[in-house]
Amino acid sequence: MNANEVVLSEPASPATEFPSNGSVHSPGASDLKASILLVDDRHDKLLAVETILSTLHQNIVTATSGKEALRRLLKEDFAVILLDVSMPGMDGFETAALIRQRPRCEHTPIIFITSIGNTENQISQGYALGAVDYMLTPIVPEVLRTKVSVFVELHKQTQLIKFQAEQLRQFEQYRYQQELAYVADRLEIETRRNRFFTLAQDMLAIGNFDGGLLQVNASWTKTMGYSEEELKGLTGFDVVHPDDREKLTAGLTALKSGTALPTFEGRFRHKNGSYIWLEGTATPFLEEKLIYIFTRDITRRKEAEEKIVHLNRELEHRVAALTEANAELEAFNYSIAHDLRTPLRSMSGFARALLEDETANLTPLGLEYATRVARSAKYMDSLLLDLLAYSRLARAEMVPGPVNLEEPINELLTVLDQEIRERKAKVEVNSPLGEVCAHTPTLKQILSNLIGNSLKFTAQGRPPLLSIFTSKHPGFVRLWVEDNGIGIAPEYHEKIFGLFQRLHDSNNYPGTGIGLALVKKGAERMGGRAGVESELGKGSRFWVDLPAIEPSHDRK
Ligand code: ADP
Repeated sequence: MNANEVVLSEPASPATEFPSNGSVHSPGASDLKASILLVDDRHDKLLAVETILSTLHQNIVTATSGKEALRRLLKEDFAVILLDVSMPGMDGFETAALIRQRPRCEHTPIIFITSIGNTENQISQGYALGAVDYMLTPIVPEVLRTKVSVFVELHKQTQLIKFQAEQLRQFEQYRYQQELAYVADRLEIETRRNRFFTLAQDMLAIGNFDGGLLQVNASWTKTMGYSEEELKGLTGFDVVHPDDREKLTAGLTALKSGTALPTFEGRFRHKNGSYIWLEGTATPFLEEKLIYIFTRDITRRKEAEEKIVHLNRELEHRVAALTEANAELEAFNYSIAHDLRTPLRSMSGFARALLEDETANLTPLGLEYATRVARSAKYMDSLLLDLLAYSRLARAEMVPGPVNLEEPINELLTVLDQEIRERKAKVEVNSPLGEVCAHTPTLKQILSNLIGNSLKFTAQGRPPLLSIFTSKHPGFVRLWVEDNGIGIAPEYHEKIFGLFQRLHDSNNYPGTGIGLALVKKGAERMGGRAGVESELGKGSRFWVDLPAIEPSHDRK
């Protein structure tokens, strides 16, 4: 496992057994040895008592004065003190009085030893000082042993209880610490889990089967505007958009049957009254009757989508309007070009009449003017004819069919035969060219323009060399018309396909600037495209893409 991985497993339950390392063991009363303090100024008496008590196998400590006894008591606990009453200096009573003043031994049993003949008065004084018993000398060994052993036993029991109490306290303390550690572990794990919940950007929630929310993270309050308490008091049905209510009901029904919703989308009311688009997933837990919900605000995305739909609709309207306007313009263009030819015919007719019938009546300047009028009228007529051809091409209904490319090309070369010869041109046709789906008259118009241009735009002194060939591509055939002419700089490759675009002066290269516009329009109308590859001075290769004949269209 990676050292940085965070493990969110449950902590082990707190230990209920006190760990045993062998050092703690609970002794029995018999294991303990009690200490007995003998106090007497006479060594022989001390020895006698010590001998009597030795059979008890306890720890016997002797002191020969009250002072020494007090010193001993400072260091050790005793089960019982045997105190001689009559001692020189500090007697037994004075010693007992001092013993009782010390908290450590205020309850230690004291047995006074005194000789017979002491007064009753002395005995009661002894009791007043806390003596628990009296022994009169001469001592009867059995009696002394019995009395002392009672106190020894009592002391041992007390010690045992104290020991057990201490052990119990230690065990309780240990258990308490274990519980504390367990709770601390749990708390840490919960805190980490909660961090995911509270820090998530997404809206996380736990809901019930009625559509209510039991727990929500901060993103909910931020997105929906309600406080956590308000959210917990609402159900989805209180805030769902009327149009999405049915969807919510269906979703909840599916969840209640145990089916997770991999994705859902709907509008829910913000506190300010606006609707927020939410998108997410929901997973039910049938046993707990809980639903785990992950959602996010997609209002912006939805608004953008709606805007795009709106813009698209607007665009469609505009395209329709433009198409209509274009059609009107083309119709207008056609009718103008058509109608202009009538007055033009009369202009060129009168110019010709002047030049043919009135030459004698005209001055040389008048003759030149009439020549110019005739030439301009001729140019204008070819312009109008080209415009009419273009308009027709744009408007005409076209039903393309299979065309073997060699047929229109050979036909055209026959028509152009004289011009080819005059220009000393050479035309190579790289058969077979293949079949395309085209509209033959339009295809002829295209080829006529391309071949015508290749024959026209040639460098002086260099006879035109034309090559016509095709290349096959998926779905279409590319027809090439290559020449060795003056070529076209790359920056004009697109421009020349526009209406009235000409790169050369009309003295050297006459023309109307409509031919290539017609090529482009025609190719497009047949479902193809047109273009050129060329460099200035290095010839040109014009191409037209035309739909290839699919095998099913093959003629039998
Ligand atoms: P036009 O031939 O009547 O001038 P086009 O539309 O056919 O008009 O051609 C537009 C212009 O493109 C021509 O005027 C000429 O400058 C250039 N062009 C067309 N074909 C060629 C060619 N094969 N070689 C060089 N320039 C050409």
